Amino acid sequence: MISPTAPGIHIGGLTKQFKVGRSTVTALDGVDIQSEQGEFVTLLGPSGCGKSTVLRILAGLESQSAGTALVHGETPQDMRRHRHLGIAFQDSALLPWRSVRSNIRLPLEVSKQTGSDEFVQELIDLVGLTGFENARPAPLSGGMRQRVAIARALVVKPRVLLLDEPFGALDDMTRQKLNIELLRIWTERPATTLMVTHGIAEAVFLSDTVVVMSARPGRVEKVVKIDLPRPRTPEMMRTREFHEYVDLLSSILFSARTRDEDALATVGGDRR
Ligand code: ADP
Ligand code: MG
Repeated sequence: MISPTAPGIHIGGLTKQFKVGRSTVTALDGVDIQSEQGEFVTLLGPSGCGKSTVLRILAGLESQSAGTALVHGETPQDMRRHRHLGIAFQDSALLPWRSVRSNIRLPLEVSKQTGSDEFVQELIDLVGLTGFENARPAPLSGGMRQRVAIARALVVKPRVLLLDEPFGALDDMTRQKLNIELLRIWTERPATTLMVTHGIAEAVFLSDTVVVMSARPGRVEKVVKIDLPRPRTPEMMRTREFHEYVDLLSSILFSARTRDEDALATVGGDRR
């Protein structure tokens, strides 16, 4: 049973090693992240610092080498069984033989839930794919396929949302629009969310908490609470407070990156 008092996400001492040939890559080295149920947390960090690995472990797609990963007090495997999870990853594959609409409906079919056609259409409109309902994924642009994946993640009205750079391939305008819409959906039905992004402004705009990770082996560099009021509005992005958060996160990220480059210079750089 999901406990209403359990933390949203509880990650403690999370460590992950990958075997690559005969050597071992430490992707995560004692990562701690705590959030409350319904809290929106984003992960920022240099490329290769283990952000996707954290998400894949929480999604039950990968197991940890050591440490704890619980979602609403449950193991990722149990969470998956309950189908309370909405996932949109960078590499979210769509089924090529299914239309946009039926790709979005897929999680409902898999979990034998009956979602309303209106809600499915609402999601299609939301992500700006009106008119493409019956199209197959192949001729769509990368950005459009990504938007299908976002709608698919939301279709089960998940209690937990794991998003790995969901807006990565989108242009700025579409990205901003989807940020605002995602926030609207999330406000109506707050899900415990962990999102990976490279967008600092996006992180500030959406999050209650931003976790900055340092370069490999991934550790938590800093946790920044975003104390902007909700509901958030696009106008807030022009306030001084907003820019102060952006500056703060940029400087934390910059020092995490610089240290990474220094380390590479001394080690000779085995990074892929
Ligand atoms: P990020 O999402 O922050 O860019 P990842 O979580 O994808 O980083 O990867 C963290 C580190 O773990 C990287 O060095 C990556 O090469 C390594 N890694 C990730 N998945 C695997 C895997 N399946 N096998 C070997 N190494 C992996
Ligand atoms: Mg990644």
